[in-house]
Amino acid sequence: MAYDYDLYVIGAGSGGVRASRISANYGARVAVAESTYLGGTCVNVGCVPKKLFVYGSHFHEDFEDAAAYGWAVNPQGFDWPTLRDNKTAEIQRLNGIYANLLSSAGVDLHEGHAQLVDAHTVSINGQTHSADKILIATGSWPSVPDFPGREHVITSNEAFYLPEFPQRVLVVGGGYIAVEFAGIFAGLGADTTLAYRGPLFLRGFDDSVRAFVAEELPKKNVNLRFGTNVERIELQGEQRQVHLTDGTALETDLVLYATGRKPNTANLGLENAGVALGEGGQVLVDEDYRTNVDNIYAIGDVTDRIQLTPVAIEEGMCIANNLFTDRPKKRLNYDNVATAVFCQPNIGTVGVTESQATDQFAGDLDIYESSYKPMKHTLSGRDERSFMKMIVRRSSGVVLGIHMVGPDAGEIMQGMSVAIGAGATKTQFDETVGIHPTAAEELVTLREVTRQA
Ligand code: FAD
Ligand code: NDP
Repeated sequence: MAYDYDLYVIGAGSGGVRASRISANYGARVAVAESTYLGGTCVNVGCVPKKLFVYGSHFHEDFEDAAAYGWAVNPQGFDWPTLRDNKTAEIQRLNGIYANLLSSAGVDLHEGHAQLVDAHTVSINGQTHSADKILIATGSWPSVPDFPGREHVITSNEAFYLPEFPQRVLVVGGGYIAVEFAGIFAGLGADTTLAYRGPLFLRGFDDSVRAFVAEELPKKNVNLRFGTNVERIELQGEQRQVHLTDGTALETDLVLYATGRKPNTANLGLENAGVALGEGGQVLVDEDYRTNVDNIYAIGDVTDRIQLTPVAIEEGMCIANNLFTDRPKKRLNYDNVATAVFCQPNIGTVGVTESQATDQFAGDLDIYESSYKPMKHTLSGRDERSFMKMIVRRSSGVVLGIHMVGPDAGEIMQGMSVAIGAGATKTQFDETVGIHPTAAEELVTLREVTRQA
């Protein structure tokens, strides 16, 4: 049967755009549907605007640190509309670039909310299109639990467009978004509190990193409240009265919920094609991104595996390669995906945590740790420290994990992920000549085992 398209992609975010345009480059007839914004979460309400805000929020302490270097800086204060609107202009520029990328690849863009009618048919804006293969790349959406006063909170989506900058902010959650936004708000001058329900935030990261970040954030004016959660929120005029489960209450101007994201599978018509979902609403796929329906695939956040842009992009590359070329099949290696958290100071991490390593290789591990004052602060006097940790399997010498907290940790960890992916040993790190003076050289000069595990 002749279909309108070889591939119909639903969602023009990180994964969908990449899969569409590379498939079209390989000669496929491709359409992509987008309901909200070209480029998806990352470009519009994620990585890109977030990083711009992180840059913006760092100037405050840069101005202070400049004095010891001989600079007299007298900032006139922070203007939120300037940062917000300059960021939005940049996002609009990127939206245009995405539109050009798609059109120059020959991909048809359908703007609107798409739904499956059956396994080979998509409906959008009252029209139907048939396709041999369909790719679900609809991403995820912030998830806020139910509690009295839930309507008085915002999520990261709204944080990027606040009409006014708040004086006081409560951030709820203890994952990536919570720690990143706590740093942004505090750096931009808001009186900031982060409330997390467990004993220590950043679950899943290396325990030493979690503890270290918990020591550093308060130095950046983030007030940490662990072991508590929101019970209810009442509106009093413009203020929010937040009652916490530990029996205390606090008044704030803004409550930002960063309590995870749910796959975007509602109103997609997946049931019309019989696509199976997991308990969390995620589209279930095999290692080639195929759902239980033979011609329907899914990639990125909607599959709820690793919710990171480069992962969605690489999955899009695999789909294009596997569906529209005769080249060897590509599968993404999910081990050793490096990641950075842009809290302040940053976290950079690749490979296993110490507790994961201990589960597998207890008694065969050498742990190297180093904590130091960054060189910049020898003059500025700022009370900020950096941390590095390397986990090595003693019997083979293979480096299993590297974790860092400090300026540019993400930048440093990108190169480390190449080394770890290549199976580098501690000896190879030791034989590498450092670049001086840098923070990264610390990773090739870790001489003494801190402890064995
Ligand atoms: P998305 O990029 O979300 O794209 C899905 C698209 O599908 C959206 O544009 C949506 O509008 C569209 N869509 C949904 N349903 C339909 C429908 N029915 N019809 C038509 N279109 C539809 N990752 C990093 O790697 N680094 C970071 O620094 C980082 N920072 C982040 C900061 C924040 C605040 C957030 C929220 C996320 C961040 N992420 C970061 C995660 C990253 O943004 C996501 O992992 C990535 O965008 C997922 O790509 P995707 O293609 O799966 O989905
Ligand atoms: P995360 O899954 O990272 O963190 C969610 C946090 O919310 C956890 O601390 C969790 O606690 C807590 N939580 C969950 N449910 C509740 C609840 N009912 N009440 C109170 N707390 C709750 O999600 P985020 O929203 O921070 O980010 C979503 C994803 O986006 C990330 O996992 C990441 O993949 C991606 N992202 C990546 C970034 C980057 O690469 N720099 C930046 C931002 C986002 P607990 O641990 O106890 O379950």
